[in-house]
Amino acid sequence: MTDMTLDFSDQVVVVTGGTRGIGRAITEAFAATGANVVPTSRTDADVTEAVEAVQEQGGESLAIPTDVSDKKAVKNLFVQVQDKFGRIDTVVNNAGINPMGALGRPEAIDVDEFDRTINVNLRGAFACARGAGSALQASGGSLINIASVGGVVGIPRQHPYVATKHGLVGLTKSLALDWAPDVRVNAVAPGYVTTDLTDGIRENEDLYQHLLDQTPMDRFADPDEIAAPVVFLASEMASYITGECLVVDGGWITE
Ligand code: NDP
Repeated sequence: MTDMTLDFSDQVVVVTGGTRGIGRAITEAFAATGANVVPTSRTDADVTEAVEAVQEQGGESLAIPTDVSDKKAVKNLFVQVQDKFGRIDTVVNNAGINPMGALGRPEAIDVDEFDRTINVNLRGAFACARGAGSALQASGGSLINIASVGGVVGIPRQHPYVATKHGLVGLTKSLALDWAPDVRVNAVAPGYVTTDLTDGIRENEDLYQHLLDQTPMDRFADPDEIAAPVVFLASEMASYITGECLVVDGGWITE
């Protein structure tokens, strides 16, 4: 019978961008289920603080600041996690950016901003999947990519971001085919969430109201409301779900 509990005791979870916003909520949610969680990002102090939050909940952790766009750093991250724990059960590719310089009409967006966004959101996610692949296959684990509603439908003036998130959904589906039945690979596609990434939007009253008008739930999500479906997808309760993209958007793109 399927295990209907959310008990990740003795399991090892790596969360990229696990120090702030959605990633931090994912880190704390897994730690609350008993997992050993390794939250990483580029900022040493934030990584130390997130690691301490895991330890306060009784889990073991490791502080390994990592820029996911640096393939050598990513390789080192997974080697170190394997060396310490001897296993990896879940990887959450959450690190992502939407640079302000890459917002606007296509002809105004610098091609270098396009590269920068791809290098973090898409190439970084692939590097992590590659780095963790053999460990996930050994544990029968799970990979979860944090995409976006922008990975499912078009959004104006966010071309690099939307292109990378569509790519991430495609990567999810093709990895799911190659790694089945050993590793399940899924994506979560949030709508707007209250984090640093959306500070600029919430400060623009007209834009904020316009987005709320488009959202039947009439509010942005709390990061915990994205973390909960991520933990579900990693759990035994989702044992027959793979290659799926779960939209969590308060009804925004519901037809
Ligand atoms: P935040 O900006 O609040 O946090 C982003 C996290 O990623 C930080 O921990 C940041 O740490 C880390 N990060 C950024 N660049 C890198 C990098 N190159 N290498 C490693 N870590 C990095 O973002 P959110 O929490 O809002 O977003 C998290 C994910 O959710 C992203 O993939 C985003 O696209 C997606 N998303 C967010 C939505 C929203 O409305 N907020 C909606 C839909 C999807 P540091 O800067 O210290 O490296």
